[in-house]
Amino acid sequence: MNNFDVVIIGGGTSGLILARELAILKRKTLVLDRKNNLVEFSFNTLGSFMNVEDFNLSKNVIAQKINSLVFQSKRVKREIETDNLFVLDKKKVHEELIDAIDTDYVTLKTNVHIKNIVKEASGNFSSIKDKNNIEYFGKIIVDASGTNGVISKKVGLRETKSILATGVEYNVEYLGDPSKMYLLSGKDYQGGYGWIFPLKNKRAIIGFGTFNDEVVKHLKPQLSKILELPLIKKLVRKDNELVEGGSLPITPVLEKFVINNLVCVGDSVSQVNPIVGEGYKFIFEAAIMASKAIHKALEKDNIELLKTYETVWKKRFSANYKRSKNAQEKIFKYTNNDLVMDFALLAMRMRSNDRIIRSVSGEYGLETK
Ligand SMILES: Cc1cc2nc3c(=O)[nH]c(=O)nc-3n(C[C@H](O)[C@H](O)[C@H](O)COP(=O)(O)OP(=O)(O)OC[C@H]3O[C@@H](n4cnc5c(N)ncnc54)[C@H](O)[C@@H]3O)c2cc1C
Repeated sequence: MNNFDVVIIGGGTSGLILARELAILKRKTLVLDRKNNLVEFSFNTLGSFMNVEDFNLSKNVIAQKINSLVFQSKRVKREIETDNLFVLDKKKVHEELIDAIDTDYVTLKTNVHIKNIVKEASGNFSSIKDKNNIEYFGKIIVDASGTNGVISKKVGLRETKSILATGVEYNVEYLGDPSKMYLLSGKDYQGGYGWIFPLKNKRAIIGFGTFNDEVVKHLKPQLSKILELPLIKKLVRKDNELVEGGSLPITPVLEKFVINNLVCVGDSVSQVNPIVGEGYKFIFEAAIMASKAIHKALEKDNIELLKTYETVWKKRFSANYKRSKNAQEKIFKYTNNDLVMDFALLAMRMRSNDRIIRSVSGEYGLETK
């Protein structure tokens, strides 16, 4: 029985924003999540160039407004003023999204672990099944299951074994300027990079991430070593043992998110911008694009129209993502070499602030035709 227009697997960032938008479009939607609590996470803060009000969120979700971004290699520092960089409180973002969802149209169901998708002879997908073999039917099915990609992997939209970038973070005492965010590079970051996200009340998040498999096994001791670096010691003081963090898929830039009546959004199809792993702004935009295509396809009873989501995404993001991907590959290749990173930051002094911010935020000002 097709009770729902849309069934979404995952009540994370992309699932919630999509559900909010589909409710506005008056589409009967079911959101299923394997978690018990949708506002409990393995990490709680995000750096983002997203203007939250553009996405109908209030300024309450901002944990700290940043006025300058500091790039720091072993010996060189490049500081850039910016007025559109924020540290976001992930819990507050998700709470606001849940509050904004119109429950006349959307049903949120937790503790449902989806395992499989059922394909009809026509090639369309009729339902999904949870681990107890309970079936959920929808005219359109959405995989928003994040890194897990429970269905996107099964249907071949994402490779089954993707390389993951993994990060660990501590919430620490912050001795620095609360309006400065740091991006840290060089050998100490072992094929990745580090970050300091200032928060209110003299706190900050310090973290580092890499996709070097060998280092991933020793992230916590490596972060402890980083905390002992003289430059870092001047900025942060660790006063608790709570480790936060998680993983992101590293894939080539994907552009296919739809098969018949199956649509994928978010980390399930690796929509994080490659350059600094910023997911929010990009996933919000992608989910809104998906909601419009879904609405049109249902309105016209034509699933071919779901493909407009891919077309619009490509036009908006494809060239930018490819440039960001190239930059990401260079960073991961050279960050282990202090001299090259020092030189890269010196070379950055020749570039305008605007150009640097556009590169880091993945917005090169280009759109593919
Ligand atoms: C360590 C780390 C740091 C990051 N830092 C930033 C940052 O600074 N700025 C930024 O913008 N982005 C950042 N990101 C990226 C951003 O968090 C993600 O891109 C974004 O949250 C992805 O949203 P999503 O909806 O695709 O996945 P998620 O938010 O992970 O949601 C997926 C949901 O699906 C559910 N689920 C999974 N499998 C199943 C299943 N089989 N059945 C039912 N439910 C299921 C999960 O429980 C989860 O609730 C970071 C990510 C990590 C890991």
